[in-house]
Amino acid sequence: MPEAIQCPRCGAQLPGQDWEGLCPKCLLRVWRWRRRKPVLAGLAGSTALLLLVLVIGSPIAALHINRERQHAEQNAVKSQQAAQFLRDILKDMERSVRIERSMGRPALVSTTFDKR
Ligand SMILES: [Zn+2]
Repeated sequence: MPEAIQCPRCGAQLPGQDWEGLCPKCLLRVWRWRRRKPVLAGLAGSTALLLLVLVIGSPIAALHINRERQHAEQNAVKSQQAAQFLRDILKDMERSVRIERSMGRPALVSTTFDKR
């Protein structure tokens, strides 16, 4: 014997019904209420829709934000590596200029380099 399902609103037994929901009598009541109070029904429907959008949209937005954060962190690491590479090149150039000057030869580059 199939399990009897009850209407969640009035508790009426719903024999032979395989979906959970309101009984036809309650559905008709809700429909009439919607016709009597269209503003309130619209407000309730809009609120439910907004909540649904928030429930679905929030995890999707969190995923996008997390992915962008990871890209930003990777780019920060790459830019620090590039900056260190350029600092090393400048130090090498400064060292070679000092050596050239100590040997009495005119250095081709006379700019003051990074002092760090
Ligand atoms: Zn009912």
